[in-house]
Amino acid sequence: MASFVPSKEIREATLAALAKRGVALEEIAELTLFLQKDYVPGLCLETCLMSVQHVLEKREVQNAILTGIELDELAERGQLSQPLQTMIEADESLYGVDEILALSILNIYGSIGYTNYGYIDKLKVGVLQRLNDKSSGQVHAFLDDLVGAVAAAAASRIAHHHRGELERAAEQQTD
Ligand code: MG
Repeated sequence: MASFVPSKEIREATLAALAKRGVALEEIAELTLFLQKDYVPGLCLETCLMSVQHVLEKREVQNAILTGIELDELAERGQLSQPLQTMIEADESLYGVDEILALSILNIYGSIGYTNYGYIDKLKVGVLQRLNDKSSGQVHAFLDDLVGAVAAAAASRIAHHHRGELERAAEQQTD
């Protein structure tokens, strides 16, 4: 047996896990657009979706998503040991490992990601509102933070690219 899993398999498993938990990439892209539209003139959903797809290509991101969703699902089926089962099932605010795991996604694109993440985590807009609806009977202790972090990372990526474009345009004018 190979001692490593092929990248393609991990990428496909990540996308399948998100789809299985009812999160469309377009919904994540909508959060990215919400975060960045006031700063990047003419930004469209298509560009945000491409940025989300880029973020999802990273192994750190895939690992975080697969791990978090697995724990959500185990908690949903009551298969974790106590006291972890109750903490994750109840999405206890003092647990905090869900947020720590999401930080491994935000780390990739620098500090602007943290600001964006904190902002949408507070507002709970769009898909985040649905994932935080406890009446669904589903456990999304990890998934809400992971989705918010992917959206925030995709927004940071767009912000960095936009800055790069502005700088190149300014250089060309002074040439
Ligand atoms: Mg959470």
